[in-house]
Amino acid sequence: MSHVTSAATDDADAPRTVLHGVGVGRAGVVGPVVQVAGAPAVPGDEPGTAPGEAEAVQERVTAAFDAVAAGLRAQADAASGAAVEVLGATAQMADDKALRKQTAAGIAGGSGPVAALDRAVDGFATMFEQAGGYLAERVTDLRSVRDRVVARILGVPEPGVPALTRPSVVVGKDLAPADTATLDVSHVLAIVTELGGPTSHTAIIAGQLGIPCIVRAGGATGLADGTVVAVDAAAGTVEVDPAPEVADGFAQRAEVAARLAEDHAPGATADGHGVLLLANIGTAEDAERAAAQAVEGSGLFRTEVLFLDAETAPTREGQAATYARALRAFGGRKVVVRTLDAGADKPLKFATQPDEENPALGVRGYRLVRTVPDVVTTQLEALGDARRETGLEPWVMAPMIATPGEARDFAAAAHAQGITKVGVMVEIPAAALRADAILAEVDFVSIGSNDLAQYTMATDRLRGELADLIDMWQPAVLDLVAATAAAGQRAGKDVGVCGESASDPLMAVVLTGLGITSLSMAPVAVPAVRFAVKAHTFAQAQAVAQAALAADDAHGARAAALAALAPGVADALGLA
Ligand code: PEP
Ligand code: MG
Repeated sequence: MSHVTSAATDDADAPRTVLHGVGVGRAGVVGPVVQVAGAPAVPGDEPGTAPGEAEAVQERVTAAFDAVAAGLRAQADAASGAAVEVLGATAQMADDKALRKQTAAGIAGGSGPVAALDRAVDGFATMFEQAGGYLAERVTDLRSVRDRVVARILGVPEPGVPALTRPSVVVGKDLAPADTATLDVSHVLAIVTELGGPTSHTAIIAGQLGIPCIVRAGGATGLADGTVVAVDAAAGTVEVDPAPEVADGFAQRAEVAARLAEDHAPGATADGHGVLLLANIGTAEDAERAAAQAVEGSGLFRTEVLFLDAETAPTREGQAATYARALRAFGGRKVVVRTLDAGADKPLKFATQPDEENPALGVRGYRLVRTVPDVVTTQLEALGDARRETGLEPWVMAPMIATPGEARDFAAAAHAQGITKVGVMVEIPAAALRADAILAEVDFVSIGSNDLAQYTMATDRLRGELADLIDMWQPAVLDLVAATAAAGQRAGKDVGVCGESASDPLMAVVLTGLGITSLSMAPVAVPAVRFAVKAHTFAQAQAVAQAALAADDAHGARAAALAALAPGVADALGLA
């Protein structure tokens, strides 16, 4: 998928470099590159510290600690939301006297500065992990301090996303989920990574934050800091030193998007067939941001996003407070909380099996009840607490359900906590094929099209080079969505879609035509989806869906749907 081409320019001597990847979102932006540095390795040849040098080396290390702490505090002052806390806690760790003392003792004992720091950090990490609870959660901060101080000692750039002083395009090999959680959204114009895929976590979180993103952009880490690039998420390209007209085109696109965003009507076809338009969220802050937009609730709260950084299982009280905050943010609108989907692309330290050869086929999602049942129970208890505390009714669903028996067990566990609206996700072909039996056990189902495509096509969703196989337009995937929607209609129960396919306006018309009752997506995608659904009667949407289903391959399915759209829609959305 990723390759580099040269764009035609007026000046034949200066061909423009264009990197190609997979785009997330539809926006285009122009801005300077800021590279994300990786964690510095320990130099294999670091000399020890001679007795006469110890004091000078210790002073150098203290200065590195001080600089790291000051830098983190400055970042925290300039940050907002959850990042303030994360950065503040890490700054405190850089000030920690015991860590500094232990490192100094290692140097006095003859170790080189990096080796002494590494040993001190390892010692504290082991101690914290054994202590468990709050202290264990600080190990990530400790390691982050280690990486930053080592970088200072070695004179290389600090790892992670650097403090952004101006709106920038953040470029890296990949972003750790924790990196994306602390992004200063107000200064991130776009994210470009060399790794990942369209449904990997960096892409999903960028979509949620409304930040245009290109994944699998080969060569991106070779771009020098400060290079001006045009990132076109709709085209999946990164153009180096773009012509001025490129920014003008992006501005026009933004104007159309802003016009569409003025429509706040509930989702419905032209003849009033309702389709709920919902937001995907991952944190309480996301909930507050999304609730301020014209959405009818949240169809997917990916709760594992809350704990990507946690070393130990989250507490009942802490979770209850977060869920209550999300429920209050939506003030009675529908909120579907998904129980932890740990594993595979979203490893959680306290829940994931460390030694699985095929984690996507392993103990992930609802299957955690087999290995860490308390984690699942605590989460449901917390949700029950949030329900009582707010007086608002949460919907809850379990990910990765394979059998009606699992759906039955999950429903019983949720009902035991007083939760009345219980559903499961359809992400495994087995669940789609047996949707009638599954719907007999629960109130609703929600199709996770990212995983449904992964498991139907036997294609790792993280591997961008197989993007053609995992394409949501694959007729086999569409057949399973259609079968699930039909089962929902027979049962008179809701069947939503909350995977990335719900955010594609063309696919949204197909899904509506298949009888899907809600579409949940990154909030930024809602206006175009609302417009596309509203531009068709239900019968027209059904015809678009049938055209797609009749195709032989993914390319043909999309082309057939496009050709069947009501006149003017494709042009208005730039879908051709
Ligand atoms: C999906 O699989 O489509 C889904 C919504 O879940 P996630 O992307 O979090 O695995
Ligand atoms: Mg999934």
